[in-house]
Amino acid sequence: MKRCVMKFGGTSVEDATAMRRSAQIVLDERCPERVVVLSAAAGVTNQLLRVGELAAEGQEASATALVGALRGRHERIAEELLPAALCATVRATIASWCDDLDDLAHGIAILGEATPRSFDMLVSYGERLSSLIFHAFLNTAGHPAEMVDARLFMITDGQNMHAVPDIAAIPGRLQQHVLPALRRGAIVVTQGFIGVTPGGITTTIGRGGSDHSAALIGALIDAEEIQIWTDVDGILTADPSLVPQAHRIKMMSFMEASELAYFGARVLHPETILPAVRKNIPVRVLNSRRPSSRGTSIIAQPDTSGQCVVKSIAYKENITLVSIVSTRMFLAHGFLENVFDVFHKYRTVVHNVATSDISISATINDTSHLEEIAEELRTFATVTVAKAKAIVCVVGDNLRNSRGIAARVLHAISNVNINMISQGASEINISFVVDEINVDTVVRLLHDEFFNPQDINREIFD
Ligand code: ASP
Ligand code: MG
Repeated sequence: MKRCVMKFGGTSVEDATAMRRSAQIVLDERCPERVVVLSAAAGVTNQLLRVGELAAEGQEASATALVGALRGRHERIAEELLPAALCATVRATIASWCDDLDDLAHGIAILGEATPRSFDMLVSYGERLSSLIFHAFLNTAGHPAEMVDARLFMITDGQNMHAVPDIAAIPGRLQQHVLPALRRGAIVVTQGFIGVTPGGITTTIGRGGSDHSAALIGALIDAEEIQIWTDVDGILTADPSLVPQAHRIKMMSFMEASELAYFGARVLHPETILPAVRKNIPVRVLNSRRPSSRGTSIIAQPDTSGQCVVKSIAYKENITLVSIVSTRMFLAHGFLENVFDVFHKYRTVVHNVATSDISISATINDTSHLEEIAEELRTFATVTVAKAKAIVCVVGDNLRNSRGIAARVLHAISNVNINMISQGASEINISFVVDEINVDTVVRLLHDEFFNPQDINREIFD
């Protein structure tokens, strides 16, 4: 492998210990051309947003105190990691940036308003501070590193706080600022999440945006791998708090990862890595606290080996099942449309649906408008609402063309009452609704059924 992008999330740079560990991972990586993309230290983005809110509410003293705390935290990291002379330089930069933050807070307090543009200016310091220290530390640790401010290349539109990167403008900038440093043999250190408009205004690309930054950079410099370093071992066959013997999934497809994401697999949001997937670049999710665990690779191609059918079992609790039966028995055209119009009107996301001519079951998570929804549906249907439900979902590319899987699922949990079953349009998941109290049992039974340690495929599972 010649070129890779290594992204470290907030917990992987949260203190001196974490930074040291992450720096070691960068140094141990054999790939010669490395681009390191960093998040702000854990919690910092939220605190910087708070600085803006406090200032806008006229509480400038509290805002300044919070800036002081952030300054102290970063100074301590620098002190622990850096030799005296370098530390002094870095501390001077930290001090001057925190003065900037105080000035910003003051300006916001005078205006009595924090705009998206001021929030972006504030939060950009989070990534800048973490990368300032990390870059300095890498340089002392035996390998030349160069800092390239993301605002030299991550050109975006002007929608502050959720700016959209301009993929036509970025490659030229990467050519100009990142590739020469790599050719010089330096490790490039840059920031995730932040960008800039063509006119030079600092932007950010949305919360949690660093994964997206890493995927974009990787796709546009033709990296061979994008590594997302977090604090979990990758994606597992089931929630380890329910199934302690759950296996790490070594490799899965983008589609499988996307299905799981809806079930709160909190590892990463697959959409953010689409630029990499489109270019067929594997994205590997790894644990910076346990680098020896090899993580999960997410790749573009579906698994069609047919050897492994079920990749993972996911669930979502706190589900409400709404059953809607049309009271107009005949010619119920428009029924589905009327039903979904009501959910749409109240901006309520429907997760699963099962339908017949005259009835629909739908699952929702957000019940803040349930009363109004039910009332409107009752003008043309009979409605029953059942709370405390859960969706359990079995995911795998090969579900599409395997026989007997639904039968195995149903057989494994034959003692449990199932309220609704659906096979997603993608055909790579089977989901069903059960009482929330049965989730533990159901997930364990299914895991036993599909992940028998004797016959799982070791190429795919750990
Ligand atoms: N620091 C930013 C956030 O917390 C971006 C990121 O961590 O991905 O949202
Ligand atoms: Mg973060």
